[in-house]
Amino acid sequence: MNLFSTLHRFTVVPSLPRELSGLQRIAYNLWWTWEPEAIGLFKRLDPELWRATRHNPLEMLGCLQQATYDSLMLDEGFMSHLAQVEERLDEYLASRTWYERHGNPRTRIAYFSMEFGLHESLPIYSGGLGILAGDHLKSASDLGLPLVGVGLLYRQGYFRQHLNFEGWQQEVYPENDFYNLPLHLERDAAGTPLTLELEYPGRSVRVQIWRVQVGRVRLYLLDSNLEENTPADREITTRLYGGDQEMRIRQEILLGIGGIRALRLLGIEPNVCHMNEGHAAFLALERIRILMEERALSFGEAMEAVRGGNVFTTHTPVEAGIDHFPPELIERYLGCYYRHLGLTREQFLTLGMQNHGRSNENFCMAVLAMKLSLHSNGVSELHGIVSRRMWADVWPDLPEEQLPLTYVTNGVHQKSWLSEEMSNLLIRYLGTRWLEQSDDALWRKVSRIPDAELWRTHRRGTERLVDYARFSLRAQLQKLDAGPKEIDRAGDVLDPEILTIGFARRFATYKRGTLLLQDKERLERILNHPERPVQIVFAGKAHPADHQGKELIRQIVQLAQQEKFRRRIVFLEDYDISVARRLVQGVDVWLNTPLRPQEASGTSGMKVAFNGGLNMSILDGWWCEGYRGNNGWAIGRGEVYDDLTYQNEVESRAIYDLLEKEIVPLFYNRGSDGVPRGWTAFMKASMQTLCPVFSTDRMVQEYARRCYLPSFENWERLNRDDLRLAVELARWKERLHGVWGGLAIVAVQAQCEREVTVGQKVPISVQITPGEVPLSEIAVEVYFGVLDSRGAIMGGEVVPLDPAPDPDKVGHFDGELECRFCGRHGFLLRVMPRHPELGTVYDPGLILWG
Ligand SMILES: *Cc1c(COP(=O)(O)O)cnc(C)c1O
Repeated sequence: MNLFSTLHRFTVVPSLPRELSGLQRIAYNLWWTWEPEAIGLFKRLDPELWRATRHNPLEMLGCLQQATYDSLMLDEGFMSHLAQVEERLDEYLASRTWYERHGNPRTRIAYFSMEFGLHESLPIYSGGLGILAGDHLKSASDLGLPLVGVGLLYRQGYFRQHLNFEGWQQEVYPENDFYNLPLHLERDAAGTPLTLELEYPGRSVRVQIWRVQVGRVRLYLLDSNLEENTPADREITTRLYGGDQEMRIRQEILLGIGGIRALRLLGIEPNVCHMNEGHAAFLALERIRILMEERALSFGEAMEAVRGGNVFTTHTPVEAGIDHFPPELIERYLGCYYRHLGLTREQFLTLGMQNHGRSNENFCMAVLAMKLSLHSNGVSELHGIVSRRMWADVWPDLPEEQLPLTYVTNGVHQKSWLSEEMSNLLIRYLGTRWLEQSDDALWRKVSRIPDAELWRTHRRGTERLVDYARFSLRAQLQKLDAGPKEIDRAGDVLDPEILTIGFARRFATYKRGTLLLQDKERLERILNHPERPVQIVFAGKAHPADHQGKELIRQIVQLAQQEKFRRRIVFLEDYDISVARRLVQGVDVWLNTPLRPQEASGTSGMKVAFNGGLNMSILDGWWCEGYRGNNGWAIGRGEVYDDLTYQNEVESRAIYDLLEKEIVPLFYNRGSDGVPRGWTAFMKASMQTLCPVFSTDRMVQEYARRCYLPSFENWERLNRDDLRLAVELARWKERLHGVWGGLAIVAVQAQCEREVTVGQKVPISVQITPGEVPLSEIAVEVYFGVLDSRGAIMGGEVVPLDPAPDPDKVGHFDGELECRFCGRHGFLLRVMPRHPELGTVYDPGLILWG
């Protein structure tokens, strides 16, 4: 007999006296994680326990004794602090928001992500992608967007990192105790947990739904760890990025298809779905399936209705970073599903292929997402360009600049990353409006902060970083059973007064974590300079399967163990949100050395900017937009060499040069009051130029204006009157595909044989024989612009031509090209379908170039 089948389970919850129940209420809304008053409230309960629980208020409340509660209730100071925080929470939830003024209340957005980095106590994230998703939810809450999040609840999350004596990364996977996390299990009216079923090959898997409250926003997390499921299926939500490809497809089916089903079970019907990376792309299929089933539509009709309401964000310019599934795996997991959608294997696989001429291409989730979204975007201007190049084949026949693939540059949730001291300083000089909105004029007021005050406020952050580094190093050594002398010596590493460089991120090879160590002798001279020393704090995890990444960590740790570097280089274990917060609040310079253009955006440097630190970075990702010359430093000018060794050498030398010639002297050039005025001028310029731009407030507003609201309008238009337009559109396209081949451009006349002067207008006239395509259903356009050296049009514009009014000239279209720039110009003619209600429509195969 299986002993555990007779095991009776029950849950114990802390028994808080009614007077203190507010503590629990606050702990269950992650709003507290960005509200210093609320953090202070939990911390004062028991600072030691606060640290030991990794800042988890629920776990802490469960550990406190009745006697502690009794004394708290008698503590007037504490009780009034509690009342004040509760009041703030109420105020926050009731306040009028940006979206109420600028949005549309009928929009319902669902944001899907494989990971969410909201706080260190909820470890269901690994790195940048998750932190961005977490910050997105927080700003969506601040701005009042009608948005819910959808993700997976991992029993073990991502691993925690320990380093052994040799510096090798060890991974441990502690269990997340759901009952000590701010999670509500979703139940029906009778109190039974709500569950849904998902089909996997030869079986179905039952899933339950947890809810996390993030300010005003709800995040739903799916969990397959139920007794009804086989042990293997219970594993689907065990680890983030932990398994093989098969585990990955199981997880992505759960996220995309399961996510949509979960929302419906909860009575939520999103009209705009945002896929944060391709992991969630199956959601588009499920939305189509539901429409087909409920409205008896064809796949094509349902797809037209759904596509308008999907938004996709891609986060990597590296092919290997994107999920590809071999066709056999797709067949095994989705064979039944796509046949149910009325698709053939060929048709379905094509949805995930860039170039269906290539036969053995794998099924790519990003391609699926792009084909089923009307709006796709990268996460910085440069990444937008790189993405368009990378995915050009998804939209055959469209010039690169015209692809529906733009960019929305990432940001950070300022309140989550600002130190309390810096936040107070900013409130003192800028007021509080900057907390709610990104505004250039407000941030210009940074110039009014006295240099000394800004400087000292920032040094407080460095002091706390140094304290933390010593504490962390000591704890690390204790775990390794180091001798007392060695543990003691951890107390004298680093110095809060000297120039502090931070480098922390995933140890993926393209981020080049050891670029700074290329020339160790030169580095040593910089670090141990007698008057102007420098120190470096490193942190970061390597993916468990990435041996090269682990080797980089080991090299740094071993270097930091050498006597001459011991006090100047520290590697902090277990990089997570909490370590990141200390780092970005304490460093003077944040170093970023990706191999251009592989860093899609990067966000940690933005966190640093809010806290008054300065960036020194390769011109890649967001820094191409942020760098202004006087607000930080660029390593190189964005050159890309074919020889990696050479590139590393050039760029590491550029780092040493910058440090020796510019950064170190600027930092140590002090006035009589000890304040480096040149440095504080850089700090101010950095805050003024970067803070109003690189916040998630700005980012989420941009998503709302440019993606969510237009998507919603599109979706609504297509779905109105029982989906009339969607159905019409699908049938119309189908009809056009049948007759498009008969269309031809027979003559083009443009008066540009001789030179044309700037400002002159060139008349152009075109004759079309339409075959069976009605002339009223085509748009004739000229794509025209300056030619580059290879003879391709750069940044072209589209000029529509009008049908000639003369009844004798049926099939003639006329217009004018305005030449606004000098240089060689070129133009191309194209004919595209034109829908009476939707205007010019793009569909692969329905475009004629001439
Ligand atoms: C901000 C953050 C990241 C993202 O870092 P980038 O290298 O700038 O993309 C990763 N991990 C943690 C813990 C972070 O806080």
